[in-house]
Amino acid sequence: MTSFDDLSFGARGSFAGVPKRTLDELGDAGVVIVGAPFDWGTTYRPGARFGPRAIRETDYLGPTGSRPHLDTGIDPLAILSVVDTGDIDVVPGYMDESIDRIRRAVASIARNGSVPIVLGGDHTITFPDAGGVADVIGHGDIALIHFDAHADTADTHHGMLHGHGTPMRRLIESGAVPGNRFVQIGLRGYWPPPDVVEWMRDHEMKSYFMSEITERGLDAVVDDAVAHAAEGAKGVFVSVDVDVVDPGSAPGTGTPEPGGITPRQLLDTVRRLGHELTVVGADVVEVCPAYDTADITALLANRVVLELLNGMARRSLGV
Ligand code: MN
Ligand code: MN
Repeated sequence: MTSFDDLSFGARGSFAGVPKRTLDELGDAGVVIVGAPFDWGTTYRPGARFGPRAIRETDYLGPTGSRPHLDTGIDPLAILSVVDTGDIDVVPGYMDESIDRIRRAVASIARNGSVPIVLGGDHTITFPDAGGVADVIGHGDIALIHFDAHADTADTHHGMLHGHGTPMRRLIESGAVPGNRFVQIGLRGYWPPPDVVEWMRDHEMKSYFMSEITERGLDAVVDDAVAHAAEGAKGVFVSVDVDVVDPGSAPGTGTPEPGGITPRQLLDTVRRLGHELTVVGADVVEVCPAYDTADITALLANRVVLELLNGMARRSLGV
């Protein structure tokens, strides 16, 4: 179901050198890294199938399996017992079958009591990522904090249900994550059209546009997001589309939109979410190495995972 070395575009080494484990031998792993090298839901530049490999390989410390944080001294890889189960055996070009396989793999990680962190892949995968976690924790019981330039709430993808512009709509319509448990951060630009924005409001999604972030400051917006996501939910799924960051600092992505947040803001915010909320799953998506320069975007995605883990480790230690 997951593997290293099987897919031509898939994983080779593990994330930061953490132990490799099959889905059957996760044991007491607190966090499980898993790749979803899937990009047949993209609408513009393809290539995010190479994201999981690039995110894992962007690592100049080598495979130490240890990453103490300079500020806190905390090594989240050891504290959380992080393992890597390789990449899900997706089938290039087969949308429904690949989505089913991703959902089953993510659910089996959650069922083991571990937190899945999925490396994408285009944003289509958040439907089976958050859906797979909700299958275990309960439909309607998790909140979702979504970083993105785009709302990803379109009704259809060229007339079809699945694509990287529709996963949030599918999660809401299926009942896995209700609209009123959604928080979106960083939306900007010229998409989606007004009727879709109206649908989002009708479904009580909390959507923070860049204009509001600029006006109030990101910290104040995140204060609201944390309070809203914590209210009544059993846990939070964090979905990070790297295009939330300005393309000047994250060029390696499929649908870049100028005017985003900074890498520093994203890293500090995900660490804060890991510390202040019960994170039950996460994904980092839309890294497209063919359009990257000097690994800028892959490096950022790698550090997003590490900073989230740092926050989660602090929370588990109660410090
Ligand atoms: Mn997206
Ligand atoms: Mn996006």
